[in-house]
Amino acid sequence: MNENKMIVDLRSDTVTKPTPGMLEAMFSARIGDDVFNEDETVNALQEKIADIFGMEDALFCPSGTMTNQIAIKCFTNPMEEVICDETAHVYRYEGGGIAFNSSASVRLLYGDRGRMNADMIEPHINPDNVHYPKSTLVVLENTVNRGGGSYYTLDQIEPIYHLCRMKNINLHLDGARIFNALTETGDSPKDYGKMFDGISVCLSKGLGAPVGSVLLGSKETIYKARRIRKVLGGGMRQAGFLAAAGIYALDNHIDRLKDDHKNARILADTLKASALVKNVMPADTNIVIFELTDKYHAEEFVEKLGHRGIKCNTFGKQMIRFVTHLDLSDDMIDHTVQTLKKLH
Ligand SMILES: *Cc1c(COP(=O)(O)O)cnc(C)c1O
Repeated sequence: MNENKMIVDLRSDTVTKPTPGMLEAMFSARIGDDVFNEDETVNALQEKIADIFGMEDALFCPSGTMTNQIAIKCFTNPMEEVICDETAHVYRYEGGGIAFNSSASVRLLYGDRGRMNADMIEPHINPDNVHYPKSTLVVLENTVNRGGGSYYTLDQIEPIYHLCRMKNINLHLDGARIFNALTETGDSPKDYGKMFDGISVCLSKGLGAPVGSVLLGSKETIYKARRIRKVLGGGMRQAGFLAAAGIYALDNHIDRLKDDHKNARILADTLKASALVKNVMPADTNIVIFELTDKYHAEEFVEKLGHRGIKCNTFGKQMIRFVTHLDLSDDMIDHTVQTLKKLH
């Protein structure tokens, strides 16, 4: 490829386009009306992913925002409270949906790069008293987007699980990038299934499907979730074309996530050596968040890279985020490394 024409899109792992193999799977999908539960491919995807996590049932939805919001609505009533980290996607990036959809309040905690622990959570579980909203749900995110792709191990989650059981509180996982976490920890998805009441998994992030997320839970939870999906307008008809991409992604795109992590570390190492960069968060998975020195405003830096074919976004004051994914070739990573080295 002509280097001058090369576009390297580091804005998000959602920008990937279906591979030829994935398109083939989509074209040949057997479909039906999923609102009647008659789409074979949607049913197959739901069964497959429920089986991977050892959970009873699953529901295919258009987005991760929808699977999270449905879960929150399933696990809370109005006037109750959700506990999550202040970086949480469910709080920051879902349009205020917790208030709008569930009429619940939120208790924000300040974890370690988005990761909370049981000792931190326990004092924020409200006692049974009319003054306080009832604490009924804890939401964890793994990996943590705003934590720079930081991850929990199951050992870290287990005490939170026990606390929630003891206090009779539901535990939901925003696992938009759960397979990135599993790639690093080697933990078993089936053990996740034992600890969480709900799990949301994005197929459209690192797994490379064009659209879709899945909510996992008990039969009872998913029965309720199906009603909520309908009222939110998320009941899709011949969605099997999209579910086929999800099945293909689960079969073919999990093992390669380690390549994304390797590329993220290459970019992080390059940034650490740059005089324009003040600080780089540890690149634990496929996200690199870094802080610029005062030489350039973050917007200027983004523009400079843009002129050289590299797309990225600002992520707060003087902060930039790079995300690696399956549409990045070695040449593209190399072009980015060389460009960053030349920039001054
Ligand atoms: C992307 C993402 C979601 C879901 O986003 P959608 O764009 O609605 O699919 C949820 N949680 C996290 C942490 C995410 O990064």
